[in-house]
Amino acid sequence: MRQGKGGNHRHADFIHISTFTGIKDITHSDNGIGIDFGIKSSLTLSNGIIINEDIPLTGKAIKLHKELSRRKQHGKNWYKTLNKLNKEYKYITQKKKDEINKIVNIITNSFETIAFQNDPIKGWMRLWGRKIRGSAIGGIMDDLKRKSRTPKVVPRYTPTSQVCSICGHRQKMPLKERTFNCGSCNLYIDRDLNASIDILEYMVPVEHMEYTPMGIKAYTSMVRYLNSIPCVKASFVVDIGSFTALA
Ligand SMILES: [Zn+2]
Repeated sequence: MRQGKGGNHRHADFIHISTFTGIKDITHSDNGIGIDFGIKSSLTLSNGIIINEDIPLTGKAIKLHKELSRRKQHGKNWYKTLNKLNKEYKYITQKKKDEINKIVNIITNSFETIAFQNDPIKGWMRLWGRKIRGSAIGGIMDDLKRKSRTPKVVPRYTPTSQVCSICGHRQKMPLKERTFNCGSCNLYIDRDLNASIDILEYMVPVEHMEYTPMGIKAYTSMVRYLNSIPCVKASFVVDIGSFTALA
C-alpha cells in the first residue's frame, strides 16, 4: 500500500494529527478523499473530518406506535392510526433522503476522486442491528457511487484498518481498539482516520497525488455546512482524537 520514500515523507505530516501540533499542519490532496464507514462515526474522511448522521424516530412516531398498540387490531381506529404512522414514516424517510443528499453533494462537489471500501453493511446489520439501520450509511454509499466523478471502490475485506498509513506495517486491530498505534514506526492515530487514509492510498498511488497545504478555511466551512444539516454532527478528528481515546 505504501509507495516510496517520497510518499512516506509527505505522509509524515499526518503524525501531527495525533500529536496535536495543530490542524494547520495537516496537508492533504486537493482532489482526492478517502472515506471510512464505521459504527462509531458514520464517516471518517481522510482529511480528518468526521461526520455522524442519525435521524431519531420523531416524538410523533413514538406516540403513534403507542396509540396503535392500544387500538383493537384491524379495527376502524387501528387503521386510522396505522395510516397516520405510515405518513409519519414517509416524512422521516424523506428527511433522511434529504440529509443523505446534502452530505453526498458536499463531498462529491469538493473532491474529484472519492475512494471508499465496499463494506459488508448487511453483515454489520446482523452484528449491530438497529444502530446501523438507524444510520444512513448504505444510502450514502450508493449515492457516492452514483454521483462521484471518479468513484474508487476498495475491494471488500481489504485490511485497511490493520495497515499503518505511514509505513505500511500490518498488525491485528481488534474492533474495540480505537487508536492505531503502529508497532513499527510508532504512529499514533485514530483508527478510522488511519483506515480512511489507507483507503485513499489504496486507490490513488501516493506518487500520483498532489499534496498541498490543507485548505483549512475550506475544510472549516465544510464542517460548518455539515453541522447546519439537522441531525448531522461534524468535527475534526483532532477534537476527539487519540488522547481522548487514551483517557
Ligand atoms: Zn507505521
